[in-house]
Amino acid sequence: MNALSFLLILVVAVLSIALVAARRRLAASRSRQGLDPAEQPADSRAQAIEAAATRAPVGIVVVDQAGNEVFKNDVAALATAATADDALLGLRLRGLLDEARDFDEDIEQQIELFSPTTRTIQLQAMPLFSAGQRAGTAGFIEDLTTRSEIDSIRSDFIANASHELKTPLGAMRLLAEALVTTDDNDTRKDLAEKINAEAGRMNRLVEDILDLALIEHSPAETQEIDLCRVAEEALAKSASLAEALGIAVDHSCDPVIVAGDHRRLVSAIANLVENALTYTAAKGLAQNPPVQLRILAQGERAIIEVQDQGIGIPERHQDRIFERFYRVDRGRSRASGGTGLGLAIVRHVVQNHSGEVEVASVPGEGTTFRIILPGLED
Ligand code: ADP
Repeated sequence: MNALSFLLILVVAVLSIALVAARRRLAASRSRQGLDPAEQPADSRAQAIEAAATRAPVGIVVVDQAGNEVFKNDVAALATAATADDALLGLRLRGLLDEARDFDEDIEQQIELFSPTTRTIQLQAMPLFSAGQRAGTAGFIEDLTTRSEIDSIRSDFIANASHELKTPLGAMRLLAEALVTTDDNDTRKDLAEKINAEAGRMNRLVEDILDLALIEHSPAETQEIDLCRVAEEALAKSASLAEALGIAVDHSCDPVIVAGDHRRLVSAIANLVENALTYTAAKGLAQNPPVQLRILAQGERAIIEVQDQGIGIPERHQDRIFERFYRVDRGRSRASGGTGLGLAIVRHVVQNHSGEVEVASVPGEGTTFRIILPGLED
């Protein structure tokens, strides 16, 4: 049952209970004169239901058959207040209530308001029945702004993800076409290796998309986690990249325990270390300086620092690098096998642990990512 059906039932219940309560009040007053004494609970039930409808998160207006307002909760009162756009909302709702009554059917309309802010509002009007009799009309006002923002973020994500997947897929098609038209064995081997590399890119992308979905939608496990063990696993995960790029990772660890999800923390730290390695190598020095991973205990808090002396991140990009698919240099990220999702995963993992992630970077000098996690006592 959705929230609106629930509220509709609530309103019908309020009306019918109010009706029953009125009859019972009459009966009670009779009972005071010697009739039927035990009717008090229905009154308090009607009051409780009315109180719930008053506090409902959507606006509710109820009118009787003649169109007189018999109930309006606070949200509806605020939404139909006197400012120009809100008064318009009140008028529209009035019109819908009349229509629902006259045509005896549910009516729904979405409207956009532009003042004081842009909002998407859903209005609904429904005839009410109680014991088979018409019992007035109910109107509902729901602000869909946040929901439509979420919808637009979701469709942006789908568009971006499809675009990202199309790139290696397109490359694979072209390479496969070239493969069938060549007889030269060396060229065929070269093309097959390229197809394999593109397939690997697609695979990483799909894995990161699934990881991100999992992190966003399933609750993190909360256990007592030894961050030194997490760090060791993250280092083991990035060891093959470190070896391939010939870059050492120095690490130190204060013993510190946090509440969290071991696997997700490993994934976040490994992402930061792999970026540090990748963007150190991108500088193209003959001798690569090592990457540093430090786990520090600071009072009750745990600090995880990953520092490199790589290419750095220009200041204007620093706020945006945690967005999905955002890259400072798309070509470079692609060439190094990046998916553009690593830091989005890091940010979600940190948020799920009630922590914060910061970046400090100077182009040409290097970057430090810092995760701050609350300690067990916080
Ligand atoms: P990618 O898979 O492209 O590395 P991320 O989400 O991990 O995606 O990072 C987003 C972007 O942030 C990268 O494309 C890169 O431009 C920048 N970035 C991340 N970490 C570093 C770093 N340690 N040094 C320099 N740039 C970095």
